[in-house]
Amino acid sequence: MVKETKFYDQLGVSPSAGDTELKKAYRKAALKYHPDKNPSPEAAEKFKELSHAYEILSDEQKREVYDSYGEEGLSGAGGMGGGMGAEDIFSQFFGGGFGGMGGGASRGPARGKDIKHSISCTLEELYKGRTAKLALNKTILCKTCEGRGGKEGKIKQCSSCHGQGMKFVTRQMGPMIQRFQTVCDACQGSGDICDAKDRCTACKGKKTQTERKILQVHIDPGMKDGQRIVFSGEGDQEPGVTPGDVVFVVDEKQHEKFTRKANDLYYEAEVDLATALTGGELAFKHVSGDYIKIPITPGEVIAPGVTKVIENQGMPIYRHGGNGHMFVKFTVKFPKNNFATEAKLKELEAILPPKAKVTIPKGTEVDECELVDVDPRKHQSAGRRDAYDSDDEEGGAGPGVQCASQ
Ligand SMILES: [Zn+2]
Ligand SMILES: [Zn+2]
Repeated sequence: MVKETKFYDQLGVSPSAGDTELKKAYRKAALKYHPDKNPSPEAAEKFKELSHAYEILSDEQKREVYDSYGEEGLSGAGGMGGGMGAEDIFSQFFGGGFGGMGGGASRGPARGKDIKHSISCTLEELYKGRTAKLALNKTILCKTCEGRGGKEGKIKQCSSCHGQGMKFVTRQMGPMIQRFQTVCDACQGSGDICDAKDRCTACKGKKTQTERKILQVHIDPGMKDGQRIVFSGEGDQEPGVTPGDVVFVVDEKQHEKFTRKANDLYYEAEVDLATALTGGELAFKHVSGDYIKIPITPGEVIAPGVTKVIENQGMPIYRHGGNGHMFVKFTVKFPKNNFATEAKLKELEAILPPKAKVTIPKGTEVDECELVDVDPRKHQSAGRRDAYDSDDEEGGAGPGVQCASQ
């Protein structure tokens, strides 16, 4: 059988390469193709390949199987596909993603995961600000043994699993190589060797304990949807790992009356026709809890659909002071049919600007039509009507308008 060398080729090393050489090769290539550095899809694919190759070759047992049986030997083992993701391999290698990589890329301890929580806020809360107390259960290093798992100086790394607590077992069954991950029997999964009498009794050698912690989350006035409130280093603690952050993300609830765009508020106000034409006043509750009262001066006409601004009544501007604006869009409530007698309507007509004159070019044929109210059963809207059933009924009568042929 010809020895397969694909994984070595991908990393650009010879099949006789040692651990250090492999590491160097992976480091160089992974940094070049990491999606943060190189956003092309080819690079992403390459990064995945490299990481997979490194995952196999850096594991003594996997490498052995690969050298003897090639990639097939590994896939026959079941669960290779379920192996680690490229990012996991990368961060295990470098200790966190690019975010935490300063100059000393590969040095320094690994960084734990950030823990994200969404924090739902009403517009009122985002206007005034509030403090939320949130309890969370976190893993901390055992306080009794300070995360060592036992008495100082009495703990040794398990040589059987290299401190991982887990190891791969390879078993040959006929032509198949079976490989599975199992808890290390030498250390019972703890990753280190310690005399039973030296074990920490508080954590039973687990090195960690769970603690309930209350965090005070300050929602400052003017915060926006998606804004992050970071508690640096408050993530779970683990031996040899720098804890990640606890991050709260503001989730702005939709408001019944107001819409927010950046620091501005949008409100839809309805005025009756009399107010729209002759003036009056308008009042509504602001998200601040106060009432907004606006006079509409007689003489000022509010047309349906018009938008006006109340300056500086929008949301507070986060850590800046001042407020955005409030945009008010008007709808006008018209009176019902027959709201006045014919005589009164004549009076109204005399007050209102003159009516527009109807002009039809001379010699054009005229159809006298009548307006009726829309009856959804009778007047199907054009949108709901398929092209197929257009010949079922008498044809395309326009909505609400019937023509009396003359
Ligand atoms: Zn072990
Ligand atoms: Zn302990």
